[in-house]
Amino acid sequence: MNKPQNTPSKKLLAVFAHPDDESFICGGTLAKYASEQVDITLVSATRGEMGRRMGNPPYLNRETMAAAREIELRNACDSLGIRQLQFLDIRDKTVEFVDEDSLTSRIAAIIQEIDPDVVLTFHEKLGGHPDHCAIGKATTAAFEKTGQRGSLYFITFGDVMERPERYGYARKDVVKIDVHAHLDAKLAAFRDHRCQTEIDEWVWLPDQEAKARFGNYEYFLKADRAFTVLNQHDLFGRRIEI
Ligand SMILES: [Zn+2]
Repeated sequence: MNKPQNTPSKKLLAVFAHPDDESFICGGTLAKYASEQVDITLVSATRGEMGRRMGNPPYLNRETMAAAREIELRNACDSLGIRQLQFLDIRDKTVEFVDEDSLTSRIAAIIQEIDPDVVLTFHEKLGGHPDHCAIGKATTAAFEKTGQRGSLYFITFGDVMERPERYGYARKDVVKIDVHAHLDAKLAAFRDHRCQTEIDEWVWLPDQEAKARFGNYEYFLKADRAFTVLNQHDLFGRRIEI
């Protein structure tokens, strides 16, 4: 996809841990913003080579998995409209053991280079997997270190943030994105991650039935609680100080 000349695009940087995080957790939102010409860069810390799912019936092994998952991720990026993909080349399941300062510096350099309006990553405590929490922690530190002008949000699972108070957050901390018009792209991206999804029969049902399994909304937590979100349905909504 070519960027229209002389039109400054809004930019979104997503820093996640594994191929499939982008599609399974917030694929609808990424597809929505891509359709609005937002320039999206995805950074994946690993190639997911330690994934437990190896195809159904299994056709991958630990040697072949990284390359297969990289191809699947590139296909998913095409389905979602993500223009740039970078890997940090960290071994899957070891992100938490990487030197934190050097990881933070690497991500800070990417943030400075891209100068994004929005950064997405995992919440360092609510990420659910050690790799998720570790990449979230380093990205949050990198965002702070760069004194970035944009907004940092944490991705969240399913609709758990319909009740943010359970996690010590308030409704005003949550941005709720309507993705119902982008479920075709999300489903295509799920299917692109074939070695991870072919064991899930629902993914391969007729499109309408498969899409019915998705929620119509994806939820994001504002990282900086001192700011208030003006538009709780847009990650690019301007913020003002309370
Ligand atoms: Zn993951």
